[in-house]
Amino acid sequence: HNHIDHATPEKVQAAIAAGDTHAHLPDYETFASYAADGGYETLRSLRQSGEWEEVQEKILASGLRGLGGAGFPSGRKWGFVRMNEGPRYLAVNGDEGEPGTFKDRYYLERTPHVFLEGMLIAAWAVEAETCFIYMRDEYPAVLEILAAEIAALEKAGIVEPGYIDLRRGAGAYICGEESAMIESIEGKRGLPRHRPPFVAQVGVFGRPTLVHNVETLYWVSKICREGPEILNSVEKNGRKGLRSYSVSGRVAKPGVYLLPAGSTILDVIDAAGGMAEGHAFKAYQPGGPSSGLLPSSIDDVPLDFDTLQPLGTFIGSAAVVVLSDQDTARGAALNMLRFFEDESCGQCTPCRAGCEKAVKLMEADRWDTDLLEDLCQVMADASICGLGQAAPNPIRLVMKHFSEEI
Ligand code: SF4
Repeated sequence: HNHIDHATPEKVQAAIAAGDTHAHLPDYETFASYAADGGYETLRSLRQSGEWEEVQEKILASGLRGLGGAGFPSGRKWGFVRMNEGPRYLAVNGDEGEPGTFKDRYYLERTPHVFLEGMLIAAWAVEAETCFIYMRDEYPAVLEILAAEIAALEKAGIVEPGYIDLRRGAGAYICGEESAMIESIEGKRGLPRHRPPFVAQVGVFGRPTLVHNVETLYWVSKICREGPEILNSVEKNGRKGLRSYSVSGRVAKPGVYLLPAGSTILDVIDAAGGMAEGHAFKAYQPGGPSSGLLPSSIDDVPLDFDTLQPLGTFIGSAAVVVLSDQDTARGAALNMLRFFEDESCGQCTPCRAGCEKAVKLMEADRWDTDLLEDLCQVMADASICGLGQAAPNPIRLVMKHFSEEI
């Protein structure tokens, strides 16, 4: 196919009229070209004579951590899942709904088989009976690519028909929370579950389930093929590894940038072509709306797991949004809380009522900071899942760093 990258609607229509039925898809690496380049050789040899512990060692040595936001050491999860008797499942979290996050889409629209091979390696490691891929429905091109390429895997005999079960999410942000995603895979409303039991013990249909984010599996594949050095040999500011930052907001060139994990906000803005013309750097969201906002004066901290914790925030899925002198921090925080209010699943009162109350208090000319702090404490302490627990972050950080606006 003569794929058209960055196609305009006119170009796509013309190409479709000329008989190219895939013209609307981005230019990606198909099964044929991936396999011709040695793709799936790693999986094949592991299935023949590999030891899962050896692969786990490599993953642990690389320092790979879960890239959906939680940052749990990826290799350790395999051991937890394997401790539980089978049949076991693997579920891929592709519900990339965090505002500002688009790195999974970036990889899937370019090299879907790097991810798919990583998924099958992880499935082999925990002896998963089925792989569920829970994919965001707002990514129609990705869904089409995956459906076609999974069919190619079946045809090539790499997986049995039906071994990979591609599911469509229906747009609920909360279904990116792993236990809500599992409920949704089971056909139920996506409500986060109480833990314990953890999904490694009781996951999809009550079975031990390994849950990984798309990008995590992309790196599993790379590490198995190229060695743990591809991550652990990169060092900057005392941090090891690489991060795929989704960068948007007031930068010249928004996009996904693969940078050392020790990068600071200034490095990230640099990579994105600097600030957009006419904008001066004022504040940034380091990792999704749950991470809130930091002022531009905090510009020498590596944007990595753990490093932001003392500042009352975290890197999450590395969705960096840059704000300028033309934005207000209070406006951005209100926007975040409105989002949480919309997306709260409503299961628990601190989050359901708390988000609604917070929005009302933040809409006032002057913020009642005592009352807001009281509310933040209740939400953080008593919400069931990460949405309600982290929703206070934007409020607290604005009160701390942008008090002149409120
Ligand atoms: Fe639902 Fe919010 Fe409670 Fe999470 S914290 S379970 S999203 S109501």
